[in-house]
Amino acid sequence: MPIEFHCEHCGKHVRAADEHAGKTAKCPSCHQPVYVPEPVSDEDVLRIAPLDPRDEQERSRLLRETADLTRKIRSDKETGAEPGPAKRAAAASDDIPTRDVDVEPLIIEYVKLMAKGDLAAAEALARDIRKHWTAAEAVMQRLTIDEIGHPALSSIPRPVLVGFFKRLREKK
Ligand SMILES: [Zn+2]
Repeated sequence: MPIEFHCEHCGKHVRAADEHAGKTAKCPSCHQPVYVPEPVSDEDVLRIAPLDPRDEQERSRLLRETADLTRKIRSDKETGAEPGPAKRAAAASDDIPTRDVDVEPLIIEYVKLMAKGDLAAAEALARDIRKHWTAAEAVMQRLTIDEIGHPALSSIPRPVLVGFFKRLREKK
């Protein structure tokens, strides 16, 4: 009975005599060396043919469980306790109405108190500023980047100002 297989190079269906089994021979089509497999006996075919229904049940149960688990992990990621940066920012701006609050005067007052060394008053004010965190951050960035700086803060050197803002951010 000839051995039938497909050439691993060209895919051509090849028939080989039993004597070539387990050896490397030349493909008649592409002339590349191909491994001729051992012939499959009727016994082998019979041994693998019947599929145990319990094995099949177990296999599909495992597949289902894996699929369920994958779905669960996915939905945890989407609705999980650890939201992404965008969600966190959105949540923060939902909780606190920052739009109509002008925190700039508060921040300027904070900087003045810090410069005077009145840390207790500055800290009390900082607590109010931190309630409007998104707006405060924007104001701090503007005051830091602005080349001229705010007139009320002109006497305060830039590095000192940056230091005060750093403190304001850290105690969040
Ligand atoms: Zn070939």
